[in-house]
Parts: sequence; structure tokens; C-alpha cells
Amino acid sequence: MSDHIRTTGPMLASPRCAAKTRCGGACRSPAVSGRKRCRMHGGARGSGAPRANQNARKHGLFTRNAIAERRQIQALLGDARKLLEGMK
Ligand SMILES: [Zn+2]
Repeated sequence: MSDHIRTTGPMLASPRCAAKTRCGGACRSPAVSGRKRCRMHGGARGSGAPRANQNARKHGLFTRNAIAERRQIQALLGDARKLLEGMK
């Protein structure tokens, strides 16, 4: 008799893919280690966007740095306005 049933435990206990199938159910394939999807649902090596993805960036108007710069300018303008009000 084979001991196959005993050796499949860790395989069956591995985290499953979090993708939804076209039928509406969950994918039952094991997720690629370190990822949440199986190899067929975007977990394969080399798939997905690179870290710090710049592909979707169009103009940089809403980057963290641009927003911080606008806030600094507004704060400076507010201080200048207060100063001018005080001079009247
Ligand atoms: Zn999957």
C-alpha cells in the first residue's frame, strides 16, 4: 500500500489562490509562494507590475511630493496674508 495519502497533507494545507473563476467560485490551485495568486492567475514569475510602478503615471500632479509642495506653498501664502493683515 502506498503512503501517498499521508504525504499530501502539506500540499493540501498550502494557501490557495484568491482568484475568482468565471463560474463565480474560488480558484482551488495552490498560490505561488510569497504571492496570493496561483501561476495561472498572475502569480507566475515576471508577471504583474514592477515595484514603484511608473507605468500609470501621466503627469505627476498627484504624487506625494507634488501634493506636499502645494501644501507648503499654500501655507506660505497663508502666512504672508496674515502678515499683510497685521501690517494694516
Ligand atoms: Zn488561481
